[in-house]
Amino acid sequence: MLVDLHLHSTYSDGRYTPTELVQVAVYRNIRVISLTDHDSWNGYEEAALEAERLNKRYAELIDAYNSWEIALSVIKTELAGKVKLAEAKSLTNTAFDVLTDNYSAIFAYSGIDNTTPLIKVLVGAEIGTQYEERAVHVLGYHIDRSCKALANKIAEMRHKREHRLQAILEKCHEQGMDITIEACDPDARAVGRPHVAKAMVAKGYVKTVQEAFDKYLHRGGSCYVAQPKLAPEEAVDLIHKAGGLAFLAHPSEIERTEVPEFLLSTIPFDGVEIWHPSTRMNLDINKWLELAKKYNLLVCGGSDFHGIPDRYPAQLGVWQVDFNNVATLINYKK
Ligand SMILES: [Zn+2]
Repeated sequence: MLVDLHLHSTYSDGRYTPTELVQVAVYRNIRVISLTDHDSWNGYEEAALEAERLNKRYAELIDAYNSWEIALSVIKTELAGKVKLAEAKSLTNTAFDVLTDNYSAIFAYSGIDNTTPLIKVLVGAEIGTQYEERAVHVLGYHIDRSCKALANKIAEMRHKREHRLQAILEKCHEQGMDITIEACDPDARAVGRPHVAKAMVAKGYVKTVQEAFDKYLHRGGSCYVAQPKLAPEEAVDLIHKAGGLAFLAHPSEIERTEVPEFLLSTIPFDGVEIWHPSTRMNLDINKWLELAKKYNLLVCGGSDFHGIPDRYPAQLGVWQVDFNNVATLINYKK
């Protein structure tokens, strides 16, 4: 049974809405998902509603046909059009056809079963922190969304980031570049330097995003302003205050290899993310599994899917995580 506990929706930098993520997951035989948007769990409610709708429909169809296989195929037929529209966002047509062919092979061996509910959504979020100038992401699962301490801190960080954006734009202005917040992000979500860079390109001040960074936005550059910081231990503490479990995200992406072990041995993390596209080499997976064992940590995994073309994985279900590997986290009860 497939699961995917690391997904990004339109509530951060993903292209799929929470509803689309649920629909595509069902279509691709993924039975448990978690939206882990950057510093936000606001997509959960929408995802949970769509999951509830599909679970109800699935139960009705099983009753009507007395067969989960038929129920599943009817649901997939009902979803096919929406899924195709959603998936078109992250793929060209040719890529879509190739991938659709490969899917049948992938799912033939991964095994579907008649588990009800059809789809389960775990509450999740990916909190951005810094350790010695390095980005360290902390995944929080099973968090109580009404926890004030966590929500206030996230709001405070967002506020600080907006101030930082304002400061960056002021520096741009001093350099003769007229860029507005709206030009950076029409939806007014959390924004950073990449958004400013894109606005610079759109306005014709530079030719590429890379040029924007090289000329103005790099650390120490004339339009650079330091990022507001949250320490990994603060994020872990807040997740615990919200009754959740804290995981160190994709340790393979942390530059210095000794840093993950240092963080896992000194901060009360509950677990570490093992199955992630950055650990495509088995060597890495085994290394982190050993570390998890050494410090008695839970394990988790997901695709870090954003629905962005050219970013692996291009589609849900391509990066596979088996339920049995992460069952302890999924079934965790406070
Ligand atoms: Zn992520």
